Amino acid sequence: MADDGRAEGTARAAQRAGAGPDGRAGGRAARIAANLESVRDRVARACAAAGRPVGDVTLIAVTKTFPASDVRILAELGVRDIGENRDQEAAPKAAESADLDLRWHFIGQLQTNKAKSVARYADIVHSVDRPRLVRELGRRVREEGRRLTCLVQVDLDPSASPGVLGPRGGADTRDALGIADAISAEDGLDLGGVMAVAPREGDPESAFARLYEVAERVRARYPQARTVSAGMSADLEAAVAQGATHLRVGTALLDDRGPIVG
Ligand SMILES: *Cc1c(COP(=O)(O)O)cnc(C)c1O
Repeated sequence: MADDGRAEGTARAAQRAGAGPDGRAGGRAARIAANLESVRDRVARACAAAGRPVGDVTLIAVTKTFPASDVRILAELGVRDIGENRDQEAAPKAAESADLDLRWHFIGQLQTNKAKSVARYADIVHSVDRPRLVRELGRRVREEGRRLTCLVQVDLDPSASPGVLGPRGGADTRDALGIADAISAEDGLDLGGVMAVAPREGDPESAFARLYEVAERVRARYPQARTVSAGMSADLEAAVAQGATHLRVGTALLDDRGPIVG
């Protein structure tokens, strides 16, 4: 009975998400609806296990490498938070989705020369890891007459050398508070909190526990900076257990991207 109800809910959601009579767009919408349901289930169970209300945790759908039509399906399914990691891809996708009520999260390593473009469409930049980027984002966002929330990206894997997959970015934990100060002092920027990616190897939960310590130090000075962005498809339970407020989930919602993304 529960299963029937669930299937029916998914079918309805897929229909709302623009299932065409040919069933092709519908196939994709139904697929994403089912994935979203199982991710929300995982989040709910992780919250229950951690004794946290499910409303504490915001799900960001990471749509990198996927088309704007998937963004539209997600929006129809009630997802408001969209994450992208490359400006070249994010800028046109945000433009194509301008009619939707979305919050755009820039989550990838950000070159200073891309700050101008990102400042036009991003609502939150998760990957702020150096003072020069703070100044440039501030300058560009003021030019645009906008505001931008910034998170300090913390490197939880400082021993990893830039290898085939490349560095993941982030500031040394000891520098995080200084970067938070810089964001807070910059006109046009709002300090939101911290972000990290779990190390490629080792236990994500202990890494996220270290992130939480940094988050608490930042919050002691800036009580409004409550965001802890951590957790992806493979480790969202560990992130919820360690206090994450924002999860960045790609493959569990949209399926495999293929081998191109590092
Ligand atoms: C791609 C990406 C994610 C999502 O990863 P999945 O494993 O696909 O869920 C999260 N955070 C960052 C910084 C990413 O680049």
